[in-house]
Amino acid sequence: MADRRVISNGWWGGERVDLLIEDGIVIDEHIDPSTVECPVVDVGGMLLLPALAEPHAHLDKALTADLAPNPSGDLRGAIDAWMEAEADGRFEPIGMAARIRDELRRLLLSGTTAVRSHLNVGGGVGIEHLRVALDVAEEFSGAIDVQLVAMITMPLTGPGSETNVAALREAVEAGVHLVGGCPHLEPDAVGAIEVLTSVADQHRSIDLHVDETLDPSMQTVAEVISAAQGRPEVRFTASHCVSLSALESDRLAVLADGLAASGVGVVALPQTNLFLQGRDAERLTPRGIAPVSVLRRHGVAVAAGGDNVQDPFNLVGRSDPLEAAALMVMAAHETPEEAFDLVSNGARSVMGLRECGPWRGAVADIVAMPVRSMREAIADASSERIVFRAGREVARSSVSRSTVVDR
Ligand SMILES: [Zn+2]
Repeated sequence: MADRRVISNGWWGGERVDLLIEDGIVIDEHIDPSTVECPVVDVGGMLLLPALAEPHAHLDKALTADLAPNPSGDLRGAIDAWMEAEADGRFEPIGMAARIRDELRRLLLSGTTAVRSHLNVGGGVGIEHLRVALDVAEEFSGAIDVQLVAMITMPLTGPGSETNVAALREAVEAGVHLVGGCPHLEPDAVGAIEVLTSVADQHRSIDLHVDETLDPSMQTVAEVISAAQGRPEVRFTASHCVSLSALESDRLAVLADGLAASGVGVVALPQTNLFLQGRDAERLTPRGIAPVSVLRRHGVAVAAGGDNVQDPFNLVGRSDPLEAAALMVMAAHETPEEAFDLVSNGARSVMGLRECGPWRGAVADIVAMPVRSMREAIADASSERIVFRAGREVARSSVSRSTVVDR
């Protein structure tokens, strides 16, 4: 028997819609809800939007800002704060599981039904964070599609790499969905990408932190393009790509064509880039964000993510992809509609997921909000939302507001 559900009394494309959903897919936009015998959720005239997706989180780090204080606010300070807290035993598994649960819950309430998270693997922690995240992700199955990336500690080649490479193998055996690392910081970027690619296949993808710097001469992204060209069956994602934004347009065009031709998706991460960069500047603080408009024009799959949330790498953050969308409007000059796509179906495309939304043929992952447009959804970011996964209600927030003049 097919699973049938109705989302009634919503708005999309300038008209009222009443969606009939069968086995998680929208099959009709204009049914009469009184004629069907199945669960019906009336959204009271709210706008129906494609659900949000978070293509780049760090669940093991989320909500640790007070556990690992970073007074200097720069990248070095963040790394030192993290390592000191870790050595001090402040990240024990029970506490980490509680924070990951809290963070996934916050993301779900914001309308996020797909999350990809990097987790520190190797070094002193082995696959401990990964095991915690795998367990908690299981609790959210059916509500959030969680993809976990083993972000392997450096180095991946040469002296000192043995325990990290062993942890990579362990992560693969434990069932990690993707593998990654930071090749631009490795002593041998090409060798590091080769080690990671050796465990990838059509089911296990690669998601790398790439060129998180304003230095235009650092373009490890070219090595990622070569690796992707050599393994067309493997899906590659390049996260950050900040130094692309420092290139002259002709050089950028060549790399953008390479990314498009090799199918490498790019994830812009405005929050952490804006927070960490330019800390030593005295004026006109320089900051960069992956140039998604140019990349999109060249046919690259692009997305935007929240990266760090209330941890030493970014002290603030709301666990709401609409925050990243707002920053892409303000700091990267995307239109509101483009920015919404970056944190919704654009992100899903980079994550290898099917298109969702309130239209026929789409996966019925939908967020209802009391707004009239995508621009208003991003601008107001109302926390009043109803979230549907495959047509089933999985989260709901309501807000009560009043002022003295209303009474
Ligand atoms: Zn990251």
